Amino acid sequence: MIRHTINLKERSYPICITTNFDELGKTVLSLRTGKKILVVTDENVDRFHSEECIKRLEESGFEVFKHVLAPGEEYKTLDAVYEIYKKLVEYKLDRNSSLVALGGGVVGDISGFAAATYMRGIHFIQIPTTMLSQADSSVGGKTGVDFDGHKNAIGAFYQPRLVFMNINTIKTLPKREVSAGLAEVVKHGLIMDAEYCEYLSDNAGKIFAFDENVLQYLAKRNVSIKGQVVEQDEKENDLRAVLNLGHTIGHAVETAMDFKLLHGECVSIGIVGAFRLSHRMEVLPESIVEQVKALLVKLELPVSLPGMDVDKVFQQIFYDKKVKDNKLKFVLPRRIGEVFQYTVEDTELVKKVLAD
Ligand code: NAD
Ligand code: ZN
Repeated sequence: MIRHTINLKERSYPICITTNFDELGKTVLSLRTGKKILVVTDENVDRFHSEECIKRLEESGFEVFKHVLAPGEEYKTLDAVYEIYKKLVEYKLDRNSSLVALGGGVVGDISGFAAATYMRGIHFIQIPTTMLSQADSSVGGKTGVDFDGHKNAIGAFYQPRLVFMNINTIKTLPKREVSAGLAEVVKHGLIMDAEYCEYLSDNAGKIFAFDENVLQYLAKRNVSIKGQVVEQDEKENDLRAVLNLGHTIGHAVETAMDFKLLHGECVSIGIVGAFRLSHRMEVLPESIVEQVKALLVKLELPVSLPGMDVDKVFQQIFYDKKVKDNKLKFVLPRRIGEVFQYTVEDTELVKKVLAD
């Protein structure tokens, strides 16, 4: 088991990267929390992984309850949080109890928000089971739900006590979901590690073949890059914004398409948009745009959206929280492995990029 620690001002927490659930009970026990645990999962994850997780926790003496959510972004709502609160009350979980999120980013974001707010905060443990949640969402403490058509409109920063990553859980994930998660992985390379991008390009086949060594390396690298950024800027005052590469356009596409595309797919399209914008601003040559597109295609991600409603996406960008005084704040690439933050005043340029 590989252990990585995220060191934050108020608390640190371990991230365990493993190939099975054998040490789950023991690891949770070491947190010295109360005996009651509510495991929140969704229907798909439940089918494959909750039995083993719950068994391991019970073996270590925990009293475990389970709540199964309907899967998918459309259920990332306050209603889902409400149902969790009802279970927490019904099973009499108190401030020393724990809420475990077993699933992808949707389960993690919903459960984390419930954990942050129930009794002003109970212990929260993430067991991410998707490429996206292992690479990105389980680390860093952003939690929340969508509201009234707006992505992540309601939420809180709330750090987990533990992230327990069994990399083999993603073997049961549909291939499209694996690719979607890889968009955030590519993002990590693009913002600060050009060599990592090369590694991804060279090992694409092994990733899709679920090669344990390659998956472990990815998990380690992702946690280290995301951890480093979050440690320096937990509440996104400045530096953490670099993790939004591809997300200004990506979120807009996601909402404009009524969440019919996966988050990672929209991020992939957004990443290409950010590189095109940098190219139009003469920051980098077209060959770099093509290189990034080739990497995304290799990882089976979309790089454009034929027939996309450019006006709708453009409008949606202005709803995004990064908009200030009608100016668009973007994270843009300087080269592969380095980004900068820039306020785009010529918004027509953005429209052109979307139409490219
Ligand atoms: P998800 O949780 O919806 O999971 C994707 C699909 O895979 C779902 O249908 C799920 O049921 C299924 N699934 C999950 N694990 C499985 C497994 N091991 N085997 C089989 N099926 C499995 O989506 P996601 O891609 O993990 O996360 C996307 C969400 O994460 C978005 O809502 C996004 O906003 C959020 N996010 C949050 C952060 C953050 O910092 N909090 C960062 C990035 C993304
Ligand atoms: Zn994302």
